[in-house]
Amino acid sequence: MELDKKSIEAKIKEEIAKTLKDIQNLEEQVKPISPENAIGRISRMDAINNKSVAEASLRQAKDKLSKLENARSKIDDPDFGICVKCKQSIPLGRIMLMPHSNKCVNCA
Ligand SMILES: [Zn+2]
Repeated sequence: MELDKKSIEAKIKEEIAKTLKDIQNLEEQVKPISPENAIGRISRMDAINNKSVAEASLRQAKDKLSKLENARSKIDDPDFGICVKCKQSIPLGRIMLMPHSNKCVNCA
């Protein structure tokens, strides 16, 4: 089956733009919480909790971005859309849903 590379590429670009925006937002949220910020002990705990959640999301977003960049650079490779594990072709629906994945549903 011939993959529709134009739509896949557009999708990857769209995902990259979205992920970059997420990273920007998350970087705002992981800024150090200043102690002189008179927000009280409980809300300070909340702020610290939110910050660690944001830090985890930020790591994920950066990971996703590098996978997307990788997928974009490989879109013209003959093995693009082939699962790296089982060597079966990944269904287009999955590529469009998760363009950063290089594994099929079974191997992911
Ligand atoms: Zn597979």
